[in-house]
Amino acid sequence: MNRAQCTPSADLLHALGELGEALAILDGDFLVALNSPMQALLPGEAGGLAEDWAQPLHGLASALAAPLGVRTRCGVSGEYVAQRVALDARHVLLRLDDERERLHHLQRQLDDREGLLFTSRSLTVSEMGSVLAHELNQPIGATANLLRGLKLRLARRHPDSTDELAALDKAVHQVTYASQIIGRVREYTQSRQPKTERLDLVELVHQSLGLLDWDLQREAVRLQLQLPQRAVAVQGDAVMLQQVLINLLRNALDALRLDRPAEPLIAIELVVEAGRAELRVSDNGPGITPQTEARLFLPFSSTKPNGMGLGLSICRSLIEMHQGRLWFTRREAGGCCFHFALPVTVGAPQSMLEKTT
Ligand code: ADP
Repeated sequence: MNRAQCTPSADLLHALGELGEALAILDGDFLVALNSPMQALLPGEAGGLAEDWAQPLHGLASALAAPLGVRTRCGVSGEYVAQRVALDARHVLLRLDDERERLHHLQRQLDDREGLLFTSRSLTVSEMGSVLAHELNQPIGATANLLRGLKLRLARRHPDSTDELAALDKAVHQVTYASQIIGRVREYTQSRQPKTERLDLVELVHQSLGLLDWDLQREAVRLQLQLPQRAVAVQGDAVMLQQVLINLLRNALDALRLDRPAEPLIAIELVVEAGRAELRVSDNGPGITPQTEARLFLPFSSTKPNGMGLGLSICRSLIEMHQGRLWFTRREAGGCCFHFALPVTVGAPQSMLEKTT
């Protein structure tokens, strides 16, 4: 009788092979039986030296020398898990699990979860949008009218008050922007689709900074711009994308105000790489703790005394609606950086000025 024939569990081994289990039985240094799933992973003949048989699978030979019961990763990128248990005083059962299928399954679960989160973020935007659009439209319209009336009266009575007239112009501009956002939110909640027009991200940065110039001056923040010389065209909704950028800039300003460094700085960088335009907004403020990071993009999570905690979750939804991605990293020198990347469109962008003035 050879070593393979005296194995008591060979039939069981083959039966388990029907279930996809890759199993082999070892007797000391010898391989005494292997079933077909194991043979598919590691071709070999019963009766040979276990070490020789195990050689083709990276790390398996040393896994055979590990204490019984220890789960050992093997394969070039650890894609298999080897486990051995004693069958009796002489025989050891070896099981090899292919982790790739499990990892694929896990990845599918994560993708489904991300899909669900995306849907729930879209719902948050949509529901909040309807309520806000309804509640804010009326007071914003009234404010715009009051400001325009005030400007007319001032221009008539004190035509030389140029500073005051310019300030009123800016106020009307801000209110107009707010009503544009509301208009877009209304349109979106009805259609659930962002508008798609070809626009220039460089111009979008300048326009957004135009809306925040007072805040930047008041906070005495140094602005560092690294923008390409030419236009960077993306397909999207100018008001929504401007909203994202303004939110990120306002968050940076808030952070610098709440915990002011010696030389407050906001940097905006736009890079185009591999068909994607990536915009980075960074600041040298206090940065974000791991606890805040864990909840950063969840709605209603804020560390600010009066924060609603909706800005980042809405920004991420808006960018995802544009087939883009929004994420966060830490700056090496302290502070944080928010990035969003969008697919670049080939061809010249339409001027945004035509649309927003
Ligand atoms: P809110 O501004 O209402 O708090 P957000 O969703 O925009 O809501 O931001 C969530 C939280 O993320 C903020 O409360 C803050 O703790 C943190 N955060 C966002 N941007 C920055 C930043 N640039 N620096 C430090 N913390 C930030």
